[in-house]
Amino acid sequence: MCEKCFIREYPKFNSTKEFEVFLAEFDKKIAKSIIFINQGEYKADNHTIYLCNNCQTIWWLSDPDNHWCGYFMIDTNAKKLIDKDDRNGKIHKYGCLSIFIILITFTLFRLIS
Ligand SMILES: [Zn+2]
Repeated sequence: MCEKCFIREYPKFNSTKEFEVFLAEFDKKIAKSIIFINQGEYKADNHTIYLCNNCQTIWWLSDPDNHWCGYFMIDTNAKKLIDKDDRNGKIHKYGCLSIFIILITFTLFRLIS
């Protein structure tokens, strides 16, 4: 992170306005100090990878859309964010499954007695 790229990360864009402000700054810096590297994939996440020529920071950008807030973060932090979402997703799935099992058990118990 440096003044040639960005001095802060965006774990998510809170509004379209915030993203527009970010994008205006990003547009000024792209090609000058930030260069496009690649399209990236990590777990279920798709993002665009950029490198700062000045400080060699690798940035991941995920554009927001209707249901997705997007992010602009350093690669290591973006990975952490995705891992956390991934874990939460799993917890949520297990949560649903255990409620389902409890319901089945309860129904069977009612039928037997
Ligand atoms: Zn930089």
